[in-house]
Amino acid sequence: MSVYYHTFGCKANQYDTERMRQELEANGLTTMGLRSDAEVVVVNTCTVTNQADADARRLIRRVHREQPNTSIVVVGCSAALQPATYESMKGVSAVVSGHDPVTIAQAVTAKSLVQIELRTRLDRINTEPIGGELLQHRRGASRGWLKVQDGCDRRCSFCATRLARGPSCSRPVNQVVQEAQLLAKAHSELVVTGIHIGHYGLDLPVSSSLAELCSVLLDRVPKIRFRLGSVEATEVDDQLLELMATSGGQLAPHLHMPLQSGANAVLRSMRRWHTREQYRARALEIAARVQPLGLGADIISGFPGETDADHRATVDLVSELPFTYLHVFPFSPRNGTPASGLPSAVPQRIAGERARELRESGLNKGVAYRGNRVGSPARVVLEGEGRTGLTGDYLRVEIQGESARPSGIFDGTLSGDAEHLRIDAPLEMCPN
Ligand code: SF4
Repeated sequence: MSVYYHTFGCKANQYDTERMRQELEANGLTTMGLRSDAEVVVVNTCTVTNQADADARRLIRRVHREQPNTSIVVVGCSAALQPATYESMKGVSAVVSGHDPVTIAQAVTAKSLVQIELRTRLDRINTEPIGGELLQHRRGASRGWLKVQDGCDRRCSFCATRLARGPSCSRPVNQVVQEAQLLAKAHSELVVTGIHIGHYGLDLPVSSSLAELCSVLLDRVPKIRFRLGSVEATEVDDQLLELMATSGGQLAPHLHMPLQSGANAVLRSMRRWHTREQYRARALEIAARVQPLGLGADIISGFPGETDADHRATVDLVSELPFTYLHVFPFSPRNGTPASGLPSAVPQRIAGERARELRESGLNKGVAYRGNRVGSPARVVLEGEGRTGLTGDYLRVEIQGESARPSGIFDGTLSGDAEHLRIDAPLEMCPN
């Protein structure tokens, strides 16, 4: 049987698709590069916004319209929260609530109509290292994903991902290291990813932490760069900060720290555990210790009850902190979350205007940051067959001239301007 995979959402979801692919290939199924060639299309869904749900439904309708004889198997976060919606869609032969590759392999090979009994809400996190065939996938891609945990123990009132993924579950350190060593043969940079990586290790029989894991990774997998996926400001502890400040760029100087709001009343209503002051203090401490620093944040505009003054508090905090980019989303209520039942909804138009103002502020800060980086050194991971690169502080740069190799890591000096950062093609690469 031939299978095509379509993945929505985050790096964790992309990693989950890779595990499914391996499991299905181990069961004798063939992966197709073109959807039109496949007998089965696996749609790995995301539920971070209403739009993400709608995108999955639109794709399923399109697949059925264009390939009416193809079976569609719907899996992942949105499938976990809305199985009945997907079961009722034409062309869908199975719905699996979650990402468990063994269950998904059963659902795909069953070939019959909706395998409701195969649905499972709890994923069995796969602790063994992903197989060597991962090297086939993302071949040529300079960056790979290293998933270290799944799920989340926090209770943010707006978050549906936590409902879909369950509590935090970490992979043991030695398994993560083994997998990183394997992936390092194919990639120059590994992104440490998960749903809530700041809680890495707390659930393990011998408790660990993200900082301890990173320390072992930097030591045991020395020739590549590691980059942290999204991590909460309050969970960047002193040990992690020290590693970032002293690793010589092996742990990329880049943090994406969700802020969500700069107003304490809104943070409380969001059931965030930190205050504006705690976030501000940690961000400033980090920026004082790590330079240059790529610093990003997620912000939700127009959360229920958000006043003009609350919005101004967020704008003021954004302008004070050294962000280099922002991801801003107008609030969108998600079924089943506490926030979906909150009163005092902010009109969509106002939430949209607030989002625009914050995005513009983030863009201006990014332009100023990139302009200041011209003339300064950068360690770059080559991408796109050596035509572009990514700096440790998360700036995409154009490579000038012919690179000695299409992939790898090298040091250089940034040139150009804020709009088009450039770097001369390397004469030699960092040893690998
Ligand atoms: S920290 Fe909050 S937003 Fe992030 S995954 Fe957990 S519950 Fe969701």
